[in-house]
Amino acid sequence: MEPRNIRTACWDPQKAGGYLKERKLDVVYGPINSRRLGLSLGINPIQSVGENTLPFACNWSCVYCQYGADGLDESVKKGRIRFATLEEIKAGLEERLSSNEHYDSVTICGPTEPTISPYFDDIVNLAVEMRDRYRPEIKTSLFTNATKLRSRNVLPLDYVFMKLDAGNEKTFKRFNRPRGVKFDDLVDELKSADVKRRIIQTAVIGGKDGNIEDLENGSYVKVINEINPDEIHLYPLLYRPFPRFDLSAISREKLESLGEYIRNSTDSQVKTFFNPVNIGEEFRF
Ligand code: SF4
Repeated sequence: MEPRNIRTACWDPQKAGGYLKERKLDVVYGPINSRRLGLSLGINPIQSVGENTLPFACNWSCVYCQYGADGLDESVKKGRIRFATLEEIKAGLEERLSSNEHYDSVTICGPTEPTISPYFDDIVNLAVEMRDRYRPEIKTSLFTNATKLRSRNVLPLDYVFMKLDAGNEKTFKRFNRPRGVKFDDLVDELKSADVKRRIIQTAVIGGKDGNIEDLENGSYVKVINEINPDEIHLYPLLYRPFPRFDLSAISREKLESLGEYIRNSTDSQVKTFFNPVNIGEEFRF
C-alpha cells in the first residue's frame, strides 16, 4: 500500500484561538487533529465575504467562543457571510478524499453553527455519500449547539456531538448567551434529536464567568438525567479566551473529580478529555 502523506499543523501558542480560525476558512479544510476523531477532514458550510473577515455565524455567543462576539444577525446584516454551495463542498471532498492523505473522519464543523446553513440536510447526505464512495472505513460527525436539530437530517452521521454547558436558564443565558433560544427548548432538542448515539459535550471552565459551579451543584446532573444521553464528554478550555471575560482553565484533577461525580449520579458513560497543550505540542480539540 502506498504510504499516505500525514499533514497536521503545530499549535502556535502565540496565536491562541487564531490557529483554528485560519485552519477552518476553506470550504473543506484540515485535517485537524482531534482528540476524539483522529485526523479529521472538516467541512465548513459558512464562508466569509470580503477581505479580513471571519465567517463567524452562530445563534449563540458563548463567553469562551474563540471566533468572536458577532453573532448570526450581525454577520448577515453586515453581509459578512455566505453559505457554501453543495457543488463547492462536493468538489473539495472529492479532491481531498481521493488523495493519498490519511484521514480518520470527516467532520461538519466550521467557525459557525453548521445547522444554520439552508443546505445543511443535503450537506449531511453529501458527506456520507462521499465517505462511502472514497473512504468507507472512516467516520462522519457533526459538532453542533443542538438548537435546531429536531427537524434536521442527522441520523446518517456516525457521531453528533451536542453541546450542553449549563444546568439552568440563568447559567445558559450568562455563559452561552443564546439569541432566541430558551433552555427548556434546548433540553427538548437534546432529548429528541434523531441520532445514532446521544452524545453530550460540555466545556468545563473556571473563573467568575465560568460554568463549573453549575456543573457541580446538581442542576446539570438533573437535566442530564432528563436527557439520558449515551455519553457525556467533558473537556477544559484549551485556548486563550477573550480578555473581557473572567475565565480560567481547570486542572486535570478537577476535571476527573467532576467526571466521577457525574458518573456516579447518572446512567451515562462519562469521558474526560484533558490534553495539556505545551509549546511545540500538536494541537488537539
Ligand atoms: S455555540 Fe460554538 S460557535 Fe456558537 S458561540 Fe458557542 S462556542 Fe461559538
